Amino acid sequence: RLYNEVQDLKGNIRVYCRIRPFLPGQSKKRTTVEYIGENGELVISNPSKQGKDSHRLFKFDKVFGPAATQEEVFLDTQPLIRSVLDGYNVCIFAYGQTGSGKTYTMSGPNITSQEDWGVNYRALHDLFQISQHRKNSISYEVGVQMVEIYNEQVRDLLSSDGPHKRYPSCLFFSIFMHAVTSTADVLELMNTGLMNRAVGATVLNERSSRSHSVLTVHVYGMDLETGAVLRGNLHLVDLAGSERVDRSEAIGERLREAQHINKSLSALGDVIFSLAQKSQHVPFRNSKLTQVLQSSLGGQAKTLMFVQLNPDVDSYSETISTLKFAERVS
Ligand code: ADP
Ligand code: MG
Repeated sequence: RLYNEVQDLKGNIRVYCRIRPFLPGQSKKRTTVEYIGENGELVISNPSKQGKDSHRLFKFDKVFGPAATQEEVFLDTQPLIRSVLDGYNVCIFAYGQTGSGKTYTMSGPNITSQEDWGVNYRALHDLFQISQHRKNSISYEVGVQMVEIYNEQVRDLLSSDGPHKRYPSCLFFSIFMHAVTSTADVLELMNTGLMNRAVGATVLNERSSRSHSVLTVHVYGMDLETGAVLRGNLHLVDLAGSERVDRSEAIGERLREAQHINKSLSALGDVIFSLAQKSQHVPFRNSKLTQVLQSSLGGQAKTLMFVQLNPDVDSYSETISTLKFAERVS
């Protein structure tokens, strides 16, 4: 196949891998990560095998090792985010088993420290800075919404009738957009969202790992000279944990959750796979998740997936299944 065609096939889908470090107190753990290359190579070793068959090579657009900072990760994400201000639709999501660092990458461990900020806070901060720079030529309006998808139900995490409420989203369901003009506005709203999410968590332990959270940023820009209008949107998604649930153990509600997660993650995989293949038919309607993300997947939209890994040998089989998911879509 011609080089150009290959490039074209790959289209607008990018896959980054991020490996979290061992946490304090885990110093005696063994790692499955054998090698991280400069050009996106990752070699994983199977702890129960020896010799030639014990290693597998995976290839990404980029691999961030355990020492990578939030800032380094953002630097390679920033151009994509900036394109939203030029009218592109962008979708960034984190995929991986519970505990692999999805929330760390997307939100960060602690929003009070700017250094710890994950992709979503940095993204909004950056959007405001650039729109400020361009204010003499383009006037921008930014709106955000935050939803949780749990058992195929979409819940608005910012539904309070606060002063921010502006206009109904034209995109989906009856979720409202909240106009924001500064990073402080965003921090306040996202705190509300996180708190609302935690409310559900008292009912079901650790619900956050079993629901998808989607932060949507809408940008509306008007060229002050020509009056031309542009629109872009950005979806920032912290997916539910991808771990397999032992069928013999999960019963009742837990089984139902597992089935819904399974269904939506495979629907997402199918959508990205058919986009990468340039299929005629893209199966957006198979899950709420893919319906919600539809506007920022496919067409001119740009997609970035963070494949999150826990380096622990005990996670070997989950690591391989995460990497296989990534392999299929990249
Ligand atoms: P997930 O959202 O995938 O369940 P978390 O983001 O909650 O995983 O991460 C699990 C734990 O690992 C948390 O204590 C988190 O602070 C920590 N962690 C994850 N990624 C990193 C990282 N890159 N550097 C330091 N700590 C991390
Ligand atoms: Mg999480």
